Amino acid sequence: MKMYFLNFGVLTAEEGWFFEGGACATLEQPSPEHKFLRIQMEGILIDHPTEGLIIYEVGPAPNYKELWPKEVYSVFPITEYTDENRLDNILQKVGYKIDDVSAIILGHLHLDHAGGLEFFRGKDIPIYVHEEELKYAFYAVATKQDFGAYIPHYLDFGFNWRPVHENEVELFKDITLYHIPGHTPGTMAMRVDLKDTGSWIFISDLAFYKDNYELVKPQGWLIRDMNSWFKSVRKVKALEKVHSAKVIPGHDPNVFAHFKHAPEYYS
Ligand SMILES: [Zn+2]
Repeated sequence: MKMYFLNFGVLTAEEGWFFEGGACATLEQPSPEHKFLRIQMEGILIDHPTEGLIIYEVGPAPNYKELWPKEVYSVFPITEYTDENRLDNILQKVGYKIDDVSAIILGHLHLDHAGGLEFFRGKDIPIYVHEEELKYAFYAVATKQDFGAYIPHYLDFGFNWRPVHENEVELFKDITLYHIPGHTPGTMAMRVDLKDTGSWIFISDLAFYKDNYELVKPQGWLIRDMNSWFKSVRKVKALEKVHSAKVIPGHDPNVFAHFKHAPEYYS
């Protein structure tokens, strides 16, 4: 089994979205400095011995500029994106094409994680997403509640949605999914067990940065359920210990830079 890190570009937004209390005015500092943070968009490709090519997270749509509402884009602009960040081009570098993909797993359905489903429009590839996320995302778009983080273009009945109902399930050999709500109701982590490098746990946006997870620093305005978030962090920490796993946050540019990227791989 081979595992590749995929680089889908960089988004930039104010600190307060990612860390609770970021740039909060205080008695001592009534006008704090507003900082922008770089948010690495990333995915994982697995070349599985029996299941074929599996992708976890597909990044934003390549034509995000036309598809993202203006008010969303002005808060969450994509500041680094070239042809090299397109999923089809990354696959080509590895020696594959879009039609070779046999399954997609989505950590959650926010626009920067699921918008890349545009590459799979009109295809019958199964898309695994937690039941709670699927229900919430369609509802959020239909009612315009939580609109912006979820947008309509990829929440399409035409895709081959496969809900995951379990709290924990080994979907394919050496690929296990965990329900880790908090950032969204149906966020899902993926554990991959490799022969040479051991276990890896990808936690999507349960943590944007390493500090969210390691220092248990809650997210800012993007959190949806604080109590669930703390419980999910504890759950992943227990899994990390039991499996001696490497835990990879959803968007940390420094963590991402530390690892090899496609076409290089881990086995
Ligand atoms: Zn998210």
